[in-house]
Amino acid sequence: MGFPRFKSKKRALLSFRVRCKTSTAGRASIRVGDHAPRTVTLPGIGTVAVRQDTRRLRRMLAKGRAKILSATVTHRAGRWTVSVTCEAADLHAAACHQPRTPTTGWVGVDRGLTAFVVAATADGTPTLRVDDPPRPARSAMVRQRRLARAVTRKQRGSRNRADAAARLGRHHARVAAIRRRFLHEVSNKLVKTHDRLAIETLTITGMLTNRHLAAAVADASWGELARQLTYKQQWHGGHLCPVDRWYPSTKTCSACRTVAAAVPLGQRVFTCQACGYRADRDLNAAVNLAIWAEQHHARVRDLPAGGPVTKARRGKGSGPRTRADETGPDDAGTAPTPPGVRHGRPRRALSHNSTEL
Ligand SMILES: [Zn+2]
Repeated sequence: MGFPRFKSKKRALLSFRVRCKTSTAGRASIRVGDHAPRTVTLPGIGTVAVRQDTRRLRRMLAKGRAKILSATVTHRAGRWTVSVTCEAADLHAAACHQPRTPTTGWVGVDRGLTAFVVAATADGTPTLRVDDPPRPARSAMVRQRRLARAVTRKQRGSRNRADAAARLGRHHARVAAIRRRFLHEVSNKLVKTHDRLAIETLTITGMLTNRHLAAAVADASWGELARQLTYKQQWHGGHLCPVDRWYPSTKTCSACRTVAAAVPLGQRVFTCQACGYRADRDLNAAVNLAIWAEQHHARVRDLPAGGPVTKARRGKGSGPRTRADETGPDDAGTAPTPPGVRHGRPRRALSHNSTEL
């Protein structure tokens, strides 16, 4: 393995992990709610107050349904977070994602800059339209420039410069948080109402080379939306169909299938030269994506339905599982990581399974 590599104090993400050890008296070194309910006790550090409610985690620990394995303490953008890794029992059936019965056909999802998302079925019914997405990077650009300028004006290596850099870092974290929240809202809305989504494969890196569009495209974070849709559909047992990137979804008439010449970006209404069909540009594209998926994926491969995602070992022999091993419907967490606790200034959470100190 060689000599250990030490972590630098100047890393953007400072973090360390401590394992939970149990003393001979049976006392765990990482404890939650030892003194006050909203506290976490770490070995060598002591008891620290946390922001997030720890009640469900404490209840699982008390009942032996969860066991703390380790705790990771992270410092990012001025906030401390402790994530507690646990080994927990399987989720109660009521707390799992329910596999849905297929309802509608395919729904095409067109991602754009004017309307962030337009979803429609193959017969032309619009199902969801999200206009006016937040453009956090654009609206924060004035402040970002000022903060970045402030950093370069400070003397290298000085305390002032480090403070200015931290201020800029917090600004970037805020922009990212706004974007992340919005994307989760949109992807949840899509996944909860549609079990079959068709999404075009975009060459986002290619679009970023267009300097007139690059900033807007990057701010829209379409790639992250696709990533969230992929894993959230898997949770729910739904399907996400990537549409061939060369399929002309914006140029094709969704009524008569005639492929027109390229439509300029500024033209918001699609008009078919052959049959006179007129529709919103993004709606027409979304309908075309749905039609493509209907044609190419008439029979869909069944994805594994969203059962409990858990790494918990059965423990206590291999006999049949009893109800006592299962978490209750009110117990903490979605499966992979049990929620820790959050603390700090009363602000929005960074993530669900993290604890802000
Ligand atoms: Zn037409």
